[in-house]
Amino acid sequence: ASKPSPWRRVVVKLSGEALMGAHSHGLDMPTLTQIAADLSGAAALGVEVAVVVGGGNFFRGIAGADKGIERARADSIGMLATVMNALALEYAIEKQGKSARALSAVPMPSLCEPFSRQAALHHLGKGRIVVLAGGTGNPFFTTDTGAALRGAELSCDLIMKATQVDGVYSADPKRDPAATRYEQLTHDEAIAKNLAVMDTAAFALARENRIPIIVFSIREPGAICSALQGHGRYSLVS
Ligand code: UDP
Repeated sequence: ASKPSPWRRVVVKLSGEALMGAHSHGLDMPTLTQIAADLSGAAALGVEVAVVVGGGNFFRGIAGADKGIERARADSIGMLATVMNALALEYAIEKQGKSARALSAVPMPSLCEPFSRQAALHHLGKGRIVVLAGGTGNPFFTTDTGAALRGAELSCDLIMKATQVDGVYSADPKRDPAATRYEQLTHDEAIAKNLAVMDTAAFALARENRIPIIVFSIREPGAICSALQGHGRYSLVS
């Protein structure tokens, strides 16, 4: 049984890694289908849903820079990677019978609509799931910061940061067995303790605009709907 969600409009941040399933890179269709079903379920709860997708399953600017590509150029390639993911996710959501629109911060009108605040609000108002590509549209930023930026400009009341673990830890739980999990913490604490679950720019934007962040594991099927209804395991940054 689904109980209503207290949230009116949310932005979900999905890393590229969340879309690759057990592969080392690229897209995994069953995983995309599972996440698309979860997003459709979230919309069915009456929540307006925007999704910011990353691109790390294809390319990250920092990795390109390490290989000798100048950073701004490498970041352009990274932004293109996020467009690939957005087009795939838009398709997967529509296959669930739910209307979706990919909007890109880097205009690519033959592939999808360019992002504008007006267009995004229009589609959200029509009950469509909006998939946001290209991050902020600028190099030297991340899609985490893109999620906080879109969260603020689209007046979202929650940022949902999907990760591979069930919340915010004092250290990387995959590397440090002594890492402890936070049930709740403030934006200030996340920044001061340099907790790497999102970058500082993203936390700072969310703090400035008083947007709470839920950090949860996308590995659990139905995780987005569960978190929206207040069950499941997650950390709350507020
Ligand atoms: N990127 C960028 N500006 C942005 C967002 C992303 O230049 O506003 C580039 C950057 O190179 C980044 C890549 O796109 O490494 C993929 O995004 P991100 O690393 O945030 O993806 P994720 O780790 O979430 O899969």
